[in-house]
Amino acid sequence: MRKIRFEVLLVAAIGLVVLASCDKQAVPGAILELNGPVMGTRFNVQVVGMPESLDKEALAAEIRATLDGINATMSTYLAESEVSQFNQYAGTDWFPVSASTAKVTEAAQKISAATGGAFDITVGPLVNIWGFGPESALEAMPDRSVIAAVSERIGYQKLDVRVDPPALKKSEPDLYIDLSAIAKGYAVDVVCDLLADKGLENFLVDIGGELRFTGRNAQGDLWRVAIENPRGDRKPYEVLSLEGGAVATSGNYRNYFEIGGQRFSHTIDPRTGRPVNHSLVLATIVSDEAMTADGWATAMIVLGAEEGIVVAEREGLAALLLSEDGESLREASSSAMESLRD
Ligand code: ADP
Ligand code: MG
Repeated sequence: MRKIRFEVLLVAAIGLVVLASCDKQAVPGAILELNGPVMGTRFNVQVVGMPESLDKEALAAEIRATLDGINATMSTYLAESEVSQFNQYAGTDWFPVSASTAKVTEAAQKISAATGGAFDITVGPLVNIWGFGPESALEAMPDRSVIAAVSERIGYQKLDVRVDPPALKKSEPDLYIDLSAIAKGYAVDVVCDLLADKGLENFLVDIGGELRFTGRNAQGDLWRVAIENPRGDRKPYEVLSLEGGAVATSGNYRNYFEIGGQRFSHTIDPRTGRPVNHSLVLATIVSDEAMTADGWATAMIVLGAEEGIVVAEREGLAALLLSEDGESLREASSSAMESLRD
């Protein structure tokens, strides 16, 4: 990820030569745009400057097959997925999984350790009793005793991951994992790697708002990534222009339910067993990799702005956190985020 500010300084220093070479020019070659449903949301892939030698249809089919493959491996909505099979498995010895499941789990476990368990892929049973999982939607708030009993089953320390040979291991038979908060980002990375391997240099991959991009758009400009305004205004909160990178956003304002006028987020704080309940409404993480950006964005929503910004600084994360403050928004941004801004 290179800083846009650096480019601007360069233009000022070298003058017309650089300005001329920066003059935007449409990228030659064909454009591929592909979208459709995946992982309970939608994906969008835009490729600019496809050489004639590349078969568009074949590339589109390869992207779809890649996404379907990740979904078929990691979805908790599919009883046959690898993750579901691990969840159904009642043994406590190593359970062989694909390299991809091990990789995503390992990344998740690192975020758990760095957040004292605020981010926790074993939180699934709590997600389910709050009506956000593959089980049925919620009609009433779960009982305190149910929350306490289900919380007993939670804990990332009860899960072990091994990368070579790839396998997972639970210390308690009923441990259940849910990769929803990080798998979309992983899938974005895999599609980006696939495109880069084909020699493509200009593309953007988006799955449900977790995105990664490189090079230029069809107009020859840097990709512009809008950070949605959580207050629902038409205008985006901010537009980022970067040479490339991953941008993941987690929000507390879109995916929620209401009981008796109270809003409940789909992000659960494993430390309380309840949906998060604080003023942080949006967390955006900018990184090189969509997987970690996705996981960390969700982690920020659990931590809240105050704890989140401390952890972001400590971890060197580029984080933008927006909290509701009466009628307005309060912003907190880490120093790594500040250095990316224009
Ligand atoms: P968002 O973009 O709003 O963060 P994600 O899809 O990335 O949404 O993550 C939300 C999903 O993460 C939930 O639907 C749930 O399955 C799972 N989840 C909820 N709470 C946690 C948590 N504390 N740690 C990890 N995953 C969680
Ligand atoms: Mg996430």
